[in-house]
Amino acid sequence: MKVLVINCGSSSLKYQLINPSTEEVFAIGLCDRIGIPGSKFEYEVPATDFELEIEQDLPTHKEALELVLNTLTAEGHGVIGDIQEVDAIGHRLVHGGEEFTESVLLDAKVIAGVEANNDLAPLHNPANLLGVTTCMELIPGKPNVGVFDTAFHQTMPAKAFMYPLPYADYAELKVRKYGFHGTSHKYVSGLANELLGNPEHSKVIVCHLGNGASISAVKDGKSVDTSMGLTPLQGLMMGTRCGDIDPAAALFIKAKRNLTDKEIDTRMNKESGILGIFEKSSDCRDLENAANSGDERAQLALDMMTYRIRAYIASYAAAMGGVDMICFTGGIGENSDSIRAKSVEGLEFMGVELDAAVNGVRKKGSVKLSTATSKVAIYKIQTNEELVIARDTFEIVK
Ligand code: ADP
Repeated sequence: MKVLVINCGSSSLKYQLINPSTEEVFAIGLCDRIGIPGSKFEYEVPATDFELEIEQDLPTHKEALELVLNTLTAEGHGVIGDIQEVDAIGHRLVHGGEEFTESVLLDAKVIAGVEANNDLAPLHNPANLLGVTTCMELIPGKPNVGVFDTAFHQTMPAKAFMYPLPYADYAELKVRKYGFHGTSHKYVSGLANELLGNPEHSKVIVCHLGNGASISAVKDGKSVDTSMGLTPLQGLMMGTRCGDIDPAAALFIKAKRNLTDKEIDTRMNKESGILGIFEKSSDCRDLENAANSGDERAQLALDMMTYRIRAYIASYAAAMGGVDMICFTGGIGENSDSIRAKSVEGLEFMGVELDAAVNGVRKKGSVKLSTATSKVAIYKIQTNEELVIARDTFEIVK
């Protein structure tokens, strides 16, 4: 079985050709700056370390996908002889609203159902669906499956997903917490349960820390709360997103600075978070380097970020009545030992003890970071959202 996994953004298309049973990745790459001057195409064959990087005009997603398919089947560095060898296509879809609680085979009716949620994710959903329609056109006759970022969190109870706004805003406008990064939270919490020996009852906290960041509380394998909300703006402090603030602060700034709706939205989504406080970069490596060289603003941003992660961990432990394992994943969670350490600092009262020596060692894969006496296991786990998409696709089409 060969599944082509597509993650289509408004100006990018990431792809992987995967065997979901053996987890072998045949090829991986991306098309960047689609429709923008300076389009770039990347292609890699992990088995042979073959890499290709070219600059080529990609005016629309159609040209981008054509280039992907031509390269996958090219003589020499291609990994399949014919595009018909692709058994199915799995798509990352950001927002499934309340209708889609699991992955789904895509047809015209289902696509219309996903489109009905476009209002909730105006930047992401239309781009994701463009990937679907382009694949249906260029790889005809093959099943397409949609895997939603929101689906894993649909098990949250109403007390966790409801906002204390007038009930009509939920009933009529569907305003509630949905949560995102669901494929990553699903994959990491699934691995965590395996590492715990698949007990009947388990309490796991997953910290997905990348440019976008979210935490989830996963009880007995089901998401019971998560930090992102109606949109991916709520929750933790992120690369450029503010996360939790007093909603009245946005109205205050908008009025005082005479901003449009779009401008205050951009301020909170693109100019806040690490970038907003540190001002020089939104990248965590730059932030840590600057803090290590004595930059006080960088240190403040780091302190704010980890203080919030720690507070969320403790609050989710309280919400679940305990925690068996805390997992760190995503670019920051997998790579930054100092952010992991600061995020659990002071949680010894809950029985959380990090092994500083093991935490400091760079090692790939799943690594246990807690001491032998820690009541709560701490792990770093490499996330794999594409594999979840490929597996779900396989399950649905097999
Ligand atoms: P995205 O949300 O875009 O998928 P990633 O999960 O790739 O993001 O994470 C990107 C973040 O990970 C960036 O802030 C980057 O600086 C950070 N990161 C990557 N490697 C390291 C590292 N060695 N130390 C600290 N931060 C790192």
